[in-house]
Amino acid sequence: MTGGGPGGAAGPPRHVYVHVPFCARRCSYCDFAIAVRRDTPVAEYVDGIRRELMLRMPRRTVDQTTCVADTVYLGGGTPSRLGAGGITALLDVLRERIQVAPGAEVTLEANPDDITPAAVGAWVAAGVNRLSLGAQSFDDEVLRWMHRTHTARDIAQSVETLRDGGIGSISLDLIFALPAQLGRDWDRDIGAALALAPGHLSLYGLTIEDHTPLAHWVGRGEAREAPEGEFEAEFLRAHDIAVSAGYQHYEVSNFARAGSASRHNSAYWSGAGYLGLGPAAHGYDGAVRRWNIAPYAEWLRCVRDGRDPIAGSEDLTETNIVTERLYLQLRTATGMVIPTDHRSVVEAWSHVGWAILQGDRFRLTPLGWLRMDALVAELDIASKSLLGLDLWRCHN
Ligand code: SF4
Repeated sequence: MTGGGPGGAAGPPRHVYVHVPFCARRCSYCDFAIAVRRDTPVAEYVDGIRRELMLRMPRRTVDQTTCVADTVYLGGGTPSRLGAGGITALLDVLRERIQVAPGAEVTLEANPDDITPAAVGAWVAAGVNRLSLGAQSFDDEVLRWMHRTHTARDIAQSVETLRDGGIGSISLDLIFALPAQLGRDWDRDIGAALALAPGHLSLYGLTIEDHTPLAHWVGRGEAREAPEGEFEAEFLRAHDIAVSAGYQHYEVSNFARAGSASRHNSAYWSGAGYLGLGPAAHGYDGAVRRWNIAPYAEWLRCVRDGRDPIAGSEDLTETNIVTERLYLQLRTATGMVIPTDHRSVVEAWSHVGWAILQGDRFRLTPLGWLRMDALVAELDIASKSLLGLDLWRCHN
């Protein structure tokens, strides 16, 4: 890795993402690069990460080439499947090459069924200070339909265990726009999430991805995608409820109380560079995006053979960078400077409630986010081939 992103500092990346692919069971809507394992091969995986790190950052000396991380994000998959000792070992391995800065944000994605007092104690001792919990719903019937391995009660219990164990920075994930047949009460679910007072909420719209159990159900006529109007209605309803409860809707899918926005994801949205480790992990250095081999066994074989597990890379053209920056800026509440020659376009958006003008800047409203592709196309300064970057996908 060399160089920071357009919004990041020059030099080695200051943000590290580690993909932990293991899950107990595949959720009905999930097409991510995961490895379903009843018994998680903790030592084997951590050794694989160690090997990848040594390959990618062979220098041991602490000098100007050393990566100092302001944020570390352990995502998946279900990283909490590594358990108490596995997360400790993984963070120890990272520290062999990466200096985790004092005050760094260290996030662990977890499922409620992995949260125990002993695990939380070990994670805190290892440096974890933020936890993103895959709740998805507080309706047990819906959770069963999703193939989740936890109940609504487990979610509340986990939040209590996390707080008792010293992790106060908690994010909850919920999924909206479920098939109408489930009779899911969205207001009740948001209410149940807010009753737990998390600092952060991530809300994702359900999408039907190929080769998932959900896609098969839809193919057989056993499930039907929520109508578009329902998607919009639930998104806007979530915005109203969360904002009334004191959260800022700071990015299309994310809400936070003051001081609780995700620093790691905010770095992505600012265009900063990041190092990605593990199967399917992506990395970015401000000019080149690279991604790793996705299947766990292949990634492991590669790093054991002493080969860089890269699956592909892309040199970003000027047009790519302009388009991506446009999307990244527009998806956040920070917005962007009104492009020269497009003030009248943006003013027209503001008149119909799709944008808010603030001096020489503007930001999209939730109504604007719902039609972001069309609005970006209207600005006519992006690459048409890059329109449609996915805004709504859930990642745990
Ligand atoms: S949604 Fe998350 S927990 Fe479920 S299978 Fe996918 S990665 Fe695993």
